[in-house]
Amino acid sequence: MKYYLLFGPPGAGKGTQAKLLAQEFNLSHVSTGDLLRQEISKGTEIGQLAKRLIDNGNFVPDSVVVEMIKQKINSHPHVDGFIFDGFPRTTAQAEILDKMLAENNEQVDKVISIIISDKVVFDRIQHRAQIEGRKDDAADDIIQNRIDTYHAKTEPLIAYYTKQNKYNEICGEGSIEEIFGKISNNSAHFATATA
Ligand code: ADP
Repeated sequence: MKYYLLFGPPGAGKGTQAKLLAQEFNLSHVSTGDLLRQEISKGTEIGQLAKRLIDNGNFVPDSVVVEMIKQKINSHPHVDGFIFDGFPRTTAQAEILDKMLAENNEQVDKVISIIISDKVVFDRIQHRAQIEGRKDDAADDIIQNRIDTYHAKTEPLIAYYTKQNKYNEICGEGSIEEIFGKISNNSAHFATATA
């Protein structure tokens, strides 16, 4: 199995690109944000815990998202690999993922980072608020909290994966097709996934 991580600030277009990449390269797309929103809409215990945290732009506990990822990895879908979107988001999550994969003699193959400026994050999320109606997109202070949390807790992963020689950064300001082209061309690993 191949393991690809899609990394970047909120609103960078990770979900959009992950869906396209999953289709093109026969990967299972796993979005922790989507999984958590499903739990919320089903009203499960996890959903109830996650709702207030997400609505206020805070992370849910590492243990919760790690458990969801573990279940996905163990579900053995008939694909060439996984593309994780929005996971890991903290150094602790990245360390647990490395350990989890190492137990099966596997590893993260590549990290693709889609970077946009804070200003573009703001503009895109304000726009998305009108389309998707997510509560965590609706207020400026919550958007700012998510941007601040990204810089404080998620950005350290750039150094983490650079050290492992797995980090690839792409500018996410452009059309969906342009960004998709850049990611697919930049990724020799993806080519082997279809071979
Ligand atoms: P965005 O594209 O805005 O980053 P996501 O759908 O990826 O949105 O995530 C929405 C929210 O779900 C996050 O703000 C966070 O509260 C929660 N979440 C998603 N993934 C994780 C994770 N790996 N760790 C902790 N919280 C997470």
